[in-house]
Amino acid sequence: MRILIAEDDPVLADGLTRSLRQADYAVDCAYDGEQADHMLSAQHYDLLILDLGLPKLEGFEVLRRLRRRGGTVPVLILSARDALADRVRGLDLGGDDYLTKPFDLPELEARVRSLIRRGQSGGASVLNHGPLTLDMAGRRAMLAGEPLELSARELGVLEVLMLRSGRVVNKEQLAEQLYGWEGEVGSNAIEVYVHRLRKKLETAGVVIRTIRGLGYLLEKDA
Ligand code: CA
Repeated sequence: MRILIAEDDPVLADGLTRSLRQADYAVDCAYDGEQADHMLSAQHYDLLILDLGLPKLEGFEVLRRLRRRGGTVPVLILSARDALADRVRGLDLGGDDYLTKPFDLPELEARVRSLIRRGQSGGASVLNHGPLTLDMAGRRAMLAGEPLELSARELGVLEVLMLRSGRVVNKEQLAEQLYGWEGEVGSNAIEVYVHRLRKKLETAGVVIRTIRGLGYLLEKDA
């Protein structure tokens, strides 16, 4: 999955790039609107994260040109402007979602996942794993058709494990999803969430395996 970040604040752009790369996305950065416009014309992206206040060519104009060319890449608008008129204009011009700065990294990442999935599946934002279903947009999970009681953080851990099912996810990746890059990495807390999830899922045969020294792996019992 390839993401273009159009953001002129280098600290924010680099922070976003780092965390999205850790989540296994291929990330390019454009630091002004002209560069973004050029890259969007030349390359295929699965998502554009677009700041509105960009030098040379403002974000609205980048978006307008993109859609006029027929570009269908999902666009997450990121802006310090929270005026209703800006939101409306951004969405009218063909933006798919709008996030106001400052934002929490886990929220941005959840929206990124949701937009990319929507772009790929034409609307669905539901993950399935055996008897387990997780609605990323609605923030709820079902187990064998029954609602599963989960805290927000348990749900966050489960979402990461499901998005990467069959692959090992380490504690640092989980902590980052839950706290963002500035948050504390609570390794013990992660163990607690995984332990609780395990208890809730084990009766349905959904197994979260501990890979010693590496992390966790979601696997379905045959
Ligand atoms: Ca800016």
